[in-house]
Amino acid sequence: MSGETFGRRDLLKRAAAVGAGVALSGGTANAAEALKIAQAANTIPRKKLGATGQDVPILLLGCSQKFDPVYDKVLHRSFDEGMNYIDTAQAYAGGQSHKTIAPFLEQVGRKNVWVTSKIMLNGKTCKPEMYSARVEDTVLRDLKTNYLDMFFMHSIDDLRQLGPEFIQMGDGLKKSGKIKYFGFSCHQGNVVELMNKAAELGAGAIDAIQFRYNFSMYGDTELNKAIDACKKAGIGLIAMKTQASVPQDSEKVKTFQSKSFTLPQAKLKAVWADDRIDAAVSEMTNVQMIKENGDAAKSATTLSMDEFHQLNRYAAQTASHRCNGCSHLCEAHAGGAKIAETLRYLMYAECYGKVGRARELYAALSEEDRAFGRVDFARAGQACPQKIDLSRRLADAKMLLA
Ligand code: SF4
Repeated sequence: MSGETFGRRDLLKRAAAVGAGVALSGGTANAAEALKIAQAANTIPRKKLGATGQDVPILLLGCSQKFDPVYDKVLHRSFDEGMNYIDTAQAYAGGQSHKTIAPFLEQVGRKNVWVTSKIMLNGKTCKPEMYSARVEDTVLRDLKTNYLDMFFMHSIDDLRQLGPEFIQMGDGLKKSGKIKYFGFSCHQGNVVELMNKAAELGAGAIDAIQFRYNFSMYGDTELNKAIDACKKAGIGLIAMKTQASVPQDSEKVKTFQSKSFTLPQAKLKAVWADDRIDAAVSEMTNVQMIKENGDAAKSATTLSMDEFHQLNRYAAQTASHRCNGCSHLCEAHAGGAKIAETLRYLMYAECYGKVGRARELYAALSEEDRAFGRVDFARAGQACPQKIDLSRRLADAKMLLA
């Protein structure tokens, strides 16, 4: 490692030692002061994660990507920038994510990194013990660690997963020392319902939620109420899918004009402008992206009114290419077919070039999930607030992913 690397890490350690002083809220320092401290240390600002009392970077590395188990530049560079938080899942990188992150944890020291992992199970059939068994048998083993800082039930879509037996499971894992905090991630149609239920349960039962949130959702009243309720309950809120990506042709509909930020940076700044959000996950797959997003996080410049207006216009102009995951609306007329999930996989392929992963996910859907012939396109299209051409987009998905 270079001397410069040691220098940056030293600054990070100093920033961490300041603790609450580096946190953007919930500590003693105000936001401007905390940002100044972070800038002096040239590291990503930090913020308290709900009522956990833990401060985490406001920019988190999404790990749905393949890492080099020998020495991974993305992992090390993001760590050097101050992102000492790993957001992984058992399903990521074809099931190899944990194994390829384990050497990195050893290289930088396990205690210097916050590790969140997730397990995805069928919401209708899963049992609490399936989660706890996998945490113990697979996740900890593959990551070569004794504990997770946070465990999320991954991409849940059923309220029963917030029932007492699941909450007890989370509590049991915490008591055993296998995890420190417990929560869930969600981006399907019932995000609002799940968040409202979590708010009722309160922090302690659910410590944090990772959910789909971006600049195109500011006008969603029900989602805003659910965010308010969770915030009031002390639940940490982590935004994901912050780029609300659409295929390239639609990206060209409007060229974002700003002296301060690129479009991806502006989308992140828009999320951080919402002080209810504690952190944003971003899948940065190369050093350039880490630098670009890191610069946005460290910048004291906020989005101007004009830049917000541009994002609003951009959201409206690209709406018919962006599925917001409100599956309860279109899938009420879909005869069991999974429209939202299919469009999400299409987005992975079209926007992120993850064709292989998208095909794997599509192949894992059941025949019934892919029975698009049963969709009443007229009624489903009518129900879609984004006015997506469902017939065309599902045909695109079939062609690209089948
Ligand atoms: S297709 Fe439309 S209604 Fe269905 S989940 Fe996507 S945005 Fe919502």
